[in-house]
Amino acid sequence: MPESLSSHPPRPALFLDRDGVLNEDHGYVYRWEDFRWIPGAREVVAAFNRAGWLVIVVTNQSGVGRGFYSEDAVNALHARMAEDLASSGAHIDAFYYAPHHPDAPVEAYRHPDPPLRKPNPGMILQALQDWPIDRDASLLIGDKPSDLEAALRAGIKGVLFEGGDLRQFLADEALLPQ
Ligand SMILES: [Mg+2]
Repeated sequence: MPESLSSHPPRPALFLDRDGVLNEDHGYVYRWEDFRWIPGAREVVAAFNRAGWLVIVVTNQSGVGRGFYSEDAVNALHARMAEDLASSGAHIDAFYYAPHHPDAPVEAYRHPDPPLRKPNPGMILQALQDWPIDRDASLLIGDKPSDLEAALRAGIKGVLFEGGDLRQFLADEALLPQ
């Protein structure tokens, strides 16, 4: 944990899956040109920022392990997302991604059961170590059962988003912060 954060009181964290929650998931998105925000997603990030929550992305990126694109490409895309959010007055506090896959042709990315890869909870557990997070007050939004399983195994409440407008969805579920 960064020294400057260690003395801060715990805050709730909004954990967000990326593909299918923040951006449209049309399979292995890694170029900004192909990136389309989910309606309402930027507004949700801004709303949780304003309410004092940490906002943390936890995303499986087996496209790296499969050799479709590099970690540099993932990081570059996340930098573009951050830039674009900044222009909406919003920010993501941290991006965690899992590049591994059991069948990765690249040995460095091959693991029979990658601890970081959802449904394993490794990325969330890492974030819980890195940031002063109030686990019981936190929330994960995912679009797949594997997201919710990872949340459950990390002791975080998870909700399934099945598409549409993310802000409206959270408003309907009474999950938007005041
Ligand atoms: Mg997803």
